[in-house]
Amino acid sequence: MYNYGIAIHGGAGTISKSLMSEEKEKTYVEALTKARDAGYAILRGGGSSIDAVVASVSSLEDCPLFNAGKGAVFNAEGSHELDASIMSGKALDAGAVAAVQGVKNPIQLAKLVMVHSDHILLMGEGALKFAKPYNVAMENAEYFHDDHRFNQWQRMKGSDDFQLDHSDKPKQYLGTVGAVALDSHGDLAAATSTGGMTNKKFGRIGDSPIIGAGTYANNNTCAISCTGSGEYLMKGVTAYDISCMMEYGGMSLYDASHQSINTHLLKLGGDGGVVGIDRKGNIVMPFNCEGMYRASKNRNASNVLIYKV
Ligand code: ASP
Repeated sequence: MYNYGIAIHGGAGTISKSLMSEEKEKTYVEALTKARDAGYAILRGGGSSIDAVVASVSSLEDCPLFNAGKGAVFNAEGSHELDASIMSGKALDAGAVAAVQGVKNPIQLAKLVMVHSDHILLMGEGALKFAKPYNVAMENAEYFHDDHRFNQWQRMKGSDDFQLDHSDKPKQYLGTVGAVALDSHGDLAAATSTGGMTNKKFGRIGDSPIIGAGTYANNNTCAISCTGSGEYLMKGVTAYDISCMMEYGGMSLYDASHQSINTHLLKLGGDGGVVGIDRKGNIVMPFNCEGMYRASKNRNASNVLIYKV
């Protein structure tokens, strides 16, 4: 049996302890624990890594603390456009949706795209048409509304500024949720979901629904979910960059992920982080900014972390 395990994130960026109340920190820790354990329970029961990452990401999407699903950031028009992707390391199957509106759990729709379509990435209205026969849960605008995110948008509305979640300073990049898992059968999977950036315009789509940039899984190497400055994660093709360094350079997951985040992404000018897991069950959670909401669990250890350790 493989050394199954899971790692999740709820966004990286300027998360400073001085701005965090004890109570707020507790709610984050509880939400991360719940999401991590939802996926881990599936792995412990012999379930698949795909089902595990969908369970964890769905739990984070349902929690208004994170910038995905309920509580996603507002775009320039005052609505929510959601991006998500999923990949299985077994046969390199993948599915993704971009700029979808009203979908309660975009990660579940991304999985339907992976399983039931001949395509990988569907966007907007087309993705909703595809979703129709599968009775995908839909919600109205009120469901996605969160006062904190609304106020973030009010401060930027009408300007050319944009910002990622968990940050009150413009052009600082953070937010998004994701999960990676190895199951007891030896299969890897990765999933990522986001509302993108506050006040985003022109149908902007970030790295999260882009296979290779925000999400990647390959049983020969690793499963990776990214968070941070989407434009830079796309330039760095960060999730695939890590996999490539392992596959073609013989590097360990630890060395490859740290090099990608702390050297390659930084050189491009981007900030962010990843969660990753390899076939041996090694877990990494590197980031090059102040903090990253993150948690992991395998048979030997578990943790929930926010700041640098
Ligand atoms: N990477 C995401 C995006 O650019 C946002 C984030 O991770 O916070 O849409």
